[in-house]
Amino acid sequence: MSGHRFSEHLSTGTDPAILCPCGCKTVENYPDIISQFLIQGFEKIRNYLKTPIHINSGYRCSWYQQKMREKEVQSKMELYGLTEEELFAKRLIWHSMNSPHCKGIALDVRVNNLDNIKLLAIAAHMGFCGLGLYPWGCHIDVRKDLTVWNRT
Ligand SMILES: [Zn+2]
Ligand SMILES: [Zn+2]
Repeated sequence: MSGHRFSEHLSTGTDPAILCPCGCKTVENYPDIISQFLIQGFEKIRNYLKTPIHINSGYRCSWYQQKMREKEVQSKMELYGLTEEELFAKRLIWHSMNSPHCKGIALDVRVNNLDNIKLLAIAAHMGFCGLGLYPWGCHIDVRKDLTVWNRT
């Protein structure tokens, strides 16, 4: 058997983007790190839509999250001509250090021929509390307190 099947429509074989991109194999070795609430919520959306959900990102280890954050700071310092402190003060850095992706409770998703705002509304209806709108799609997570943001 290759990969790990979390549920009917979610497995590391069909959705390798759920794995940490750094190659640390955390999810491969500890698949339980992916939250059951996240998997159940994903299935609710999938069964409602009856169409594939593309996963851009799932689990990230804290090392990789830190790397992504450093990369973002570097590129935005150049883009805006601001210092690191100014970027944080102006809330221009999107990658946080305690990302829900590092806790195994988040997915970045999109669905062909479906508005991201509609996908976000469906996720909210299915119980997701972390809801982020991005140009590339939606961030959804199963944190406890409702948090909604728009980065488009
Ligand atoms: Zn990693
Ligand atoms: Zn995300």
